[in-house]
Amino acid sequence: MSEWITIIGLEVHAEMETGSKMFSACPVVDSVEAPPNTAVDPLSLGMPGTLPVINKLAMEYGMMVGLALNCEIPPLNQFARKNYFYPDLPKGYQISQYDRPLAINGWIDIDLSDGPTKRIRVRRAHMEEDTGKLTHVSGGSLVDYNRAGVPLLEIVSEPDINSAEEAEAYARKLRAILRYLGVNSGDMSKGVLRFEANVSVMRPDDADYRTRTEIKNLNSIRSMYRAIQYEVNRQIKLYESGDTVRQATLGWDENAQKIIIQRYKERPDEYRYFPEPDLPVVVVSREWVDEVRARLPELPDAKKQRFVEELGLNDYDAGVLVAERAVANYYEAVLTAGIEAKAAANWIISNLFGLMNKASVDREAIADIPATPQKLAGLIKLVNDGTINQNIGVKVLEMMFESGQDAQTIVDEKGLAQVSDTSLIAKAVAQVIKDNDGLVQRYLEGQDKLFGALMGKAMGALKGKGNPQVVREQLTEQLNALRNDS
Ligand code: ADP
Ligand code: MG
Repeated sequence: MSEWITIIGLEVHAEMETGSKMFSACPVVDSVEAPPNTAVDPLSLGMPGTLPVINKLAMEYGMMVGLALNCEIPPLNQFARKNYFYPDLPKGYQISQYDRPLAINGWIDIDLSDGPTKRIRVRRAHMEEDTGKLTHVSGGSLVDYNRAGVPLLEIVSEPDINSAEEAEAYARKLRAILRYLGVNSGDMSKGVLRFEANVSVMRPDDADYRTRTEIKNLNSIRSMYRAIQYEVNRQIKLYESGDTVRQATLGWDENAQKIIIQRYKERPDEYRYFPEPDLPVVVVSREWVDEVRARLPELPDAKKQRFVEELGLNDYDAGVLVAERAVANYYEAVLTAGIEAKAAANWIISNLFGLMNKASVDREAIADIPATPQKLAGLIKLVNDGTINQNIGVKVLEMMFESGQDAQTIVDEKGLAQVSDTSLIAKAVAQVIKDNDGLVQRYLEGQDKLFGALMGKAMGALKGKGNPQVVREQLTEQLNALRNDS
């Protein structure tokens, strides 16, 4: 059986989180929390006689995204009317961009688990306005225009993505960039960021791409991953049973975990695009582009490179720490509090992430955990200066993660300070040797690895607080003395 190649292009809609709408001063509100139809004005409602005015900040946010995605920003930008009829679009057309978009010809380097990066080309990014929201209830549909007119950036990739894993990596990287730029929260459950996947399969020797389908309604990156896998398998099965794939718009049913066919496309959509007569062509001067470029923060790829080259982190650690802006901020705050780069990375990746996973706290929510960067730094200092040992440090972090108490307070309240007093440790070790005669005999007879067991018992006798180095010295010394006696 010959193989199939997966071909995917992603279309991403990202709201640009400015305070007001794309073409009027109407405020933008949380479209899940706010009561319906409370953030509307004559423009959002498509009243006759209203005139749009371009939101400059939204254009600049869009430009920032374009620049962060390595795009060219053409000198002329034009809005266009995309005509279609739908109840969530009261004007009967959406103001979008057609042949003069805000940004073109960029790329995103995606990070794959099993190798280096792969470059996915970004065809274009254009500004438009969001539509309202329909809710279907028994007996009819309800419409909420709060979202109508919210600035929206559509980012279209070339079909360079060849697996569900690559689509996921693209989505994660793009979401991270939006968050670094501070133009979009990336909260897919609220619909401020939405992905649509175009999917087809082909044989290696096909001269051209085959028919693609388009999957909509993907409300998490996980659903997108599953939907793509499902759709690829569906298409392969169709071809292998002698059928063909029909061009269609598909939906993903999260409960049933399957694709539903929403409609077949007989003809391409006919939107009768024409230049928006109510808006001027936007001249994007090079000075304006430079001014916006100067506002770009350090982005994930650059930050990762810096962490590797200047801080000496390995590739993996650096990649994990920059993957979410909130994590990178947290890490940098621990460094600012005086902790060495590698130690800070280890505590976050090996210990803090484990606690967050167990408590189902998402990485991007790290800014909200009670164990703040300053408190983690305080804990690492107590370990470094020998006030507590490493293992107790891990336990203190667990308690700090729950309570938000600082490390010194936890150590004082629970009496966890490290015991380094040699005579105290010598006494505990002597007792352990006395109580574990069998183990000690077998050790002396040559079972060297029983040293670890005796070490564990000695640490246990000291309630885990013993200075491991001193305990090890005492144990070695006392066992050697026994060996010499016998
Ligand atoms: P339009 O329909 O607007 O002219 P295209 O059809 O060229 O645009 O592309 C729309 C999206 O579909 C893009 O993201 C593109 O990468 C993707 N795409 C195009 N052809 C295929 C294909 N054969 N398989 C999968 N994705 C595709
Ligand atoms: Mg669009």
